[in-house]
Amino acid sequence: MKINVKCIPPDGETLAGSDPSSIMELEEPDTRFEHDVEYELLAQLQGNALLVTGQLRTPATLRCSRCLRVFDFPVRVDQFVFHQELHGEDFVDLTTNMREDIILELPQRALCAEGCKGLCPHCGKDLNKGSCRCKPSEGDLRWHALDNLKLKLK
Ligand SMILES: [Zn+2]
Ligand SMILES: [Zn+2]
Repeated sequence: MKINVKCIPPDGETLAGSDPSSIMELEEPDTRFEHDVEYELLAQLQGNALLVTGQLRTPATLRCSRCLRVFDFPVRVDQFVFHQELHGEDFVDLTTNMREDIILELPQRALCAEGCKGLCPHCGKDLNKGSCRCKPSEGDLRWHALDNLKLKLK
């Protein structure tokens, strides 16, 4: 999104609209942006500087790190702030800052739901849809034996 600095009236200019998802320039299989980036911004001139504040919104398409399901995650940047000294230029490009702020709002670890149960490590069944028939693994049994032993020692 580019702002024409010369067109901003003294009391500021409200800018509402959208940029195509391509501004996100992200080519990751598990994090995709397929929808427009919507913005509602207020551009103001402050002496020799441009100040832009407002909100950004776009849904990201993520893959759950536990069950691998693809889901939409609504990204909101509620306090977008851009400030830049002006040196006579006509246009100022906000795209890089918008992209960075949106990416900062992505979760470190994508989860389709807080309590996602994930996949069974043995048969791969989605445990959100019901339990599977896998027996507890040897590792689990050994831990149980150890627990029993500890109880006896007490
Ligand atoms: Zn999940
Ligand atoms: Zn299983």
